[in-house]
Amino acid sequence: MSTSKAHLQTQLLHHDRLNGHENAPAHMPVYKTVQYAYENAQAIADAFQGKTAGYTYSRSNNPTLTALEAQLTLLEGSIETITFATGMGAIGTALLALLHAGDHIVVSQYLFGNSTSLFNTFALHGVAIDYVDASDVGAVAQAVRANTRLVFVETVANPRTQIANLAGIGALCREKNLLFVVDNTMGTPALLRAKDYGAGLVMNSLSKGLSGHAAALGGALTDTGEFDWAHYPNIHEGYRKGDAKRWGISQLRKKGLRDLGATLSPDAAQTIALGLETFFLRNERACANALALAEFLQNHPAVDNVDYPGLPEHPQHVRAVELFGERGFGTLLSFTVKSSHKHPFAVIDALHVAMISTHLGDNRTMALPVAHTIYAEMGAAQRQAWGIDDGLIRVSVGIEAIADLTADFAQALG
Ligand SMILES: *Cc1c(COP(=O)(O)O)cnc(C)c1O
Repeated sequence: MSTSKAHLQTQLLHHDRLNGHENAPAHMPVYKTVQYAYENAQAIADAFQGKTAGYTYSRSNNPTLTALEAQLTLLEGSIETITFATGMGAIGTALLALLHAGDHIVVSQYLFGNSTSLFNTFALHGVAIDYVDASDVGAVAQAVRANTRLVFVETVANPRTQIANLAGIGALCREKNLLFVVDNTMGTPALLRAKDYGAGLVMNSLSKGLSGHAAALGGALTDTGEFDWAHYPNIHEGYRKGDAKRWGISQLRKKGLRDLGATLSPDAAQTIALGLETFFLRNERACANALALAEFLQNHPAVDNVDYPGLPEHPQHVRAVELFGERGFGTLLSFTVKSSHKHPFAVIDALHVAMISTHLGDNRTMALPVAHTIYAEMGAAQRQAWGIDDGLIRVSVGIEAIADLTADFAQALG
């Protein structure tokens, strides 16, 4: 039986059992093993040299990871995926494997805070970085230099939900033969495929909505096949073999993953795969909830401002419609309470259904005071420059019944 013409949700559910593993369990079991034994010396030599498919050591691969990687490749309509212990492990490995001291990169200024911290570390190791407003392709174009190696953006920024100009930046990168890397964690492959906008590499944190249960950390890099690695100067001689489309992913797995060792555990891979089975259903519900909650907050007299790409007032609403179509506008929103009304802490403390947590993309709705937590370290001047108001409350919307969520926020706002 084949499901290759079915919807992605259907393909996902039946993916493992149709891929012929022993005794045909419905999804891939956990292969709790570090090593793999071979019949003879020639067989292990052939596996090492890539002449036969085969596992050698679980830091580089494991059947449970292969199954999850194949599902993610399917979701992204791409050529290959590598999973990692965390999203940060995925980004860190990409930077370590692909950049040299003296290279220049262009990075969105609206970035997940830990990613900014990681990029700043690479700056200490000799990579020049320009942070620009990625919702404006002109700003990206202006920053490009002769030694620019890649452009890195997030689809939907956290916490204020700015939408990157993916189409514009993708076209620019194609014209200049630059690698376009998209962190689509907040967009998710249910809302858009970064590949369709020219991304060569897509990063997904598997700790967020793709899992939903928040029971495991993980990350992934997917090579979409859009980038011609023959244009990338930092591919080592050993990986410049065969089809140039595969040079990058070879170097990322064989060198990047091996060197850094930020490998996903097989237990976590299976836990993530269990969450992934219901991803489309959960995402549909959570996006519908987020839109309804954003509209409710927008109309509430105690609320000053709501950031949500699904609202017509959002600065990139038209772009969000172009990118996401009818599929939803994500599960992240932010709002500010009128300063004359109530302290943001009092509003958050009064929530009973929403929990107080810094996570994103969970099945449960979560609220966070942004300025005092994830943006506390940067100080008031930087917060002001980035439009982070002291009263800003970030909400990651879950899959509860919407009536319970609106009732909860209504009573908390008072
Ligand atoms: C959470 C997140 C990451 C990092 O993922 P971890 O799995 O927590 O390491 C990277 N980018 C974005 C946009 C995220 O939301």
